[in-house]
Amino acid sequence: MINSSLKKLGDMLQAKKISSVELTQTFMARISQYNPSINAYISLDDAKTLAQAKAADVQIAAGNITPLTGIPIAQKDIFCAKGWRTTCGSKMLENFIAPYDAHIITQFDAVGAVNLGKTNMDEFAMGSSNETSYFGGVKNPWGFDRVPGGSSGGSAAAVAARLCAAATGTDTGGSIRQPASLCGLTGLKPTYGVVSRFGMIAFASSLDQAGPMAKSAEDCALMMNVMAGFDERDSTSLNRAKEDYSKELNKPYLNKPLAGLKVGLPKEFFSEGLDARVAKVIETAIAEYTKLGAEIVEISLPNTGLSIPVYYVLAPAEASSNLSRYDGVRYGHRAAEYTDLMDMYNKSRAEGFGAEVKRRILIGTYVLSAGYYDAYYLKAQQIRRLIAQDFTEAFKKCDVIMGPAAPSTAFKAGEKVDDPVAMYLQDIYTISTNLAGLPGMSVPAGFAQSDDGKALPVGLQIIGNYFDEARMLNVAHQYQQVTDWHVQTPDLSLLEGKA
Ligand code: GLN
Repeated sequence: MINSSLKKLGDMLQAKKISSVELTQTFMARISQYNPSINAYISLDDAKTLAQAKAADVQIAAGNITPLTGIPIAQKDIFCAKGWRTTCGSKMLENFIAPYDAHIITQFDAVGAVNLGKTNMDEFAMGSSNETSYFGGVKNPWGFDRVPGGSSGGSAAAVAARLCAAATGTDTGGSIRQPASLCGLTGLKPTYGVVSRFGMIAFASSLDQAGPMAKSAEDCALMMNVMAGFDERDSTSLNRAKEDYSKELNKPYLNKPLAGLKVGLPKEFFSEGLDARVAKVIETAIAEYTKLGAEIVEISLPNTGLSIPVYYVLAPAEASSNLSRYDGVRYGHRAAEYTDLMDMYNKSRAEGFGAEVKRRILIGTYVLSAGYYDAYYLKAQQIRRLIAQDFTEAFKKCDVIMGPAAPSTAFKAGEKVDDPVAMYLQDIYTISTNLAGLPGMSVPAGFAQSDDGKALPVGLQIIGNYFDEARMLNVAHQYQQVTDWHVQTPDLSLLEGKA
């Protein structure tokens, strides 16, 4: 049951083969067993979760069922959920109880999905390993000495360890796709503006976007049907007609599943810095696509090498502004002792934020300061435009772009904590899509052997043109019809008894 697709779970609920309460309790039992060692969840609230499951059962009994009614979902702790502690992985919000629901929480509640709990994450979504979380690191279910990726590391580990049926994540520079890649999941970052950011704690507002992390493309489509849609409370939410993301999953092509699909391979994604074992898995996946009928086109994204430096000017600039609200006055951590107002601000922020968040605030404040604004911030904005134009040119030659989602498989906990630049390079293939506002996904494509002989998941990245999510999901789904990488599960038996 824990390995079933969302569709299968929905069918079982509808046929009354199981109740939502039973399904929810199955996941809750697994959470009690494994979460103490995996640390995928920051906050659990059994009473709230079970109340939602009971309500879903009433809805189902009344015949009022949608595809996700009664299905237990984990929510990244970046989303405000009324009455739930919402920490964003920070000491600053350790005791913050959200007074309202994020838009996507409202959407999941409206269809009768069950909130299983709030998942661990890098502090304020800044990180690629989940190690910046105030609540501690998260174990990768595929290798317990490894990180799950970040910042949506808790959601990724929760899905991989089957501690939920699916989860939500957010992606500012790669935080859905990189952990999906490292944990063997299918994750989608939608086009900027497709999912409302209302009630999603802001990191870098021009890049932040929420999306699903699940077992398959089919599951991601069902999640997207709930998450996407116009919301007037987010001024960057796009007013588009509601879309059915499942509609193209099985779209028939002429003779082969993906006949005529033009797949662009950017040469910059296959150069120095990519682990050779990862490259091999990606090449094999691309060969599989040619068997499905895809045509391979060489492309170039000449400015993509600038995306990390551009991102690390723009994202900290926006973060320094967004995080100025945590001043100890309105909400969040307040220092116990201080002499005057300025001292209270200083101490509250010094105590409430971790090292990586402080580093970003310092960089952001610096690049926005008079005298440096033109040299850094303005220049980065200009290059951002060039990076977006590269994609516009590329999409004249191809329908989707493919490459690795991350340069390596899951690395060891502690391996990169003292080297921020090495950590930042984890997003070398993902950040450019955020800068351009494009949709991107990671799809399980096989396993690569680590130096110590572990088989670790590798994700294939699929980048689409604006609003091409349905097509990307089709492209991923067809691959998942002929491969079984996405149904592999990690062996948790070593964790047993240690909980
Ligand atoms: N790893 C990147 C960072 O640290 C991206 C994080 C994200 O997408 N939220 O900023």
